[in-house]
Amino acid sequence: MNKQWMEFVESIKRLYGKDFIALHEPTFNEKEVEYVTDCVKTGWVSSVGSYVTRFEEDLAKFIGVKRAVAVVNGTAALHIALKVAGVEANDEVLMPSLTFIATANAISYIQAIPHFVDVNIETLGVNPAKLETYLEEVAELRQGELYNKQTNRRIKALVPMHTFGHPCLMDELDAICEKYKLVLVEDAAESLGSYYKGKHTGTFGKVSAISFNGNKIITTGGGGAILTDDEALADYAKHLTTTAKVPHRWEFIHDEIGFNYRMPNINAALGCAQLEKMPEFIEQKRNLAGYYENIVTNIDGVQLFKEPVNTRSNYWLQTIILDESYDRNEVLDFLNNQGVMSRPIWTPMHELVMFQQCPKMDLSVTELLNKNVINIPSTPISEG
Ligand SMILES: *Cc1c(COP(=O)(O)O)cnc(C)c1O
Repeated sequence: MNKQWMEFVESIKRLYGKDFIALHEPTFNEKEVEYVTDCVKTGWVSSVGSYVTRFEEDLAKFIGVKRAVAVVNGTAALHIALKVAGVEANDEVLMPSLTFIATANAISYIQAIPHFVDVNIETLGVNPAKLETYLEEVAELRQGELYNKQTNRRIKALVPMHTFGHPCLMDELDAICEKYKLVLVEDAAESLGSYYKGKHTGTFGKVSAISFNGNKIITTGGGGAILTDDEALADYAKHLTTTAKVPHRWEFIHDEIGFNYRMPNINAALGCAQLEKMPEFIEQKRNLAGYYENIVTNIDGVQLFKEPVNTRSNYWLQTIILDESYDRNEVLDFLNNQGVMSRPIWTPMHELVMFQQCPKMDLSVTELLNKNVINIPSTPISEG
């Protein structure tokens, strides 16, 4: 690696003021300590307590959605979102192959089948034009439901994912769902604080999921939430994620097989404190993108990935794109050896052993991006 790359490493170390820089670390201060201490001191650390409701209300308000249901992690949120959206065993669910494993796993938990679609270079998310051409070819509507002509299975839903916080082309994807009678379920795990045409991601789908894992823009330790404007679906999601217990003063009656997916109060306390800082975090993330843009331009054949048109991104993970002159692994080796923690994008789902037999379209852009996308340190930096 040449002098330009050495200077890049030096600039990052100067920016963070240290020699080893993690990919993404949580940021806490007295607020987190105060709220979590309150849980410990009062004993309300587990499945009952006021922080869960408060977190759900604060989150719904921040996002601009009617209801948020807090759960143990983002994967569980996706699982239940798909279930309440009506996805059933043996249905196919369209999803990008370029995503974190959770999207495909959640679909599999319902015994539904992931059906992989390609992304575009501009958004790193599902390519609507390519999807539409593909559906014209392989699918047909039968009595108001979409079927895969090759497998004879119903195609029930589309799950776009907002990669690294950058919103997908939601107008176009929405139109496709309308035309082909698909339920839209957003995997908004990475995009808290990201907007498409002024509307928060996760508010386009009938139901959506978000994550508060330790590496996300805010964290509850582990956690997630189901988002929806549909009160009945929200109530059902709450019911399913809290063991499907029928409310009663003492009796244990459960009216279906539910899940113990409730977010503990102590995690919600952390979340309440984190959520208060969202405006700062977003500003810091966006400033960081500006800083990176300046230093990345000094390296030949490398570009910083910038928010797509009509969007305002949370820039959760900062992303560089290498041109074909580079070997991705050499760059990763170099940066990690220098103490600048860097990671490739995920191995595409269709290449993993569990999902190799799943239906898929041409995935050439996914495969290309797998060779040239790298995430670089993204922890927000506070001024002063
Ligand atoms: C983080 C993430 C999830 C959820 O992950 P959990 O670790 O279960 O909270 C889902 N999808 C994507 C794309 C993610 O990045």
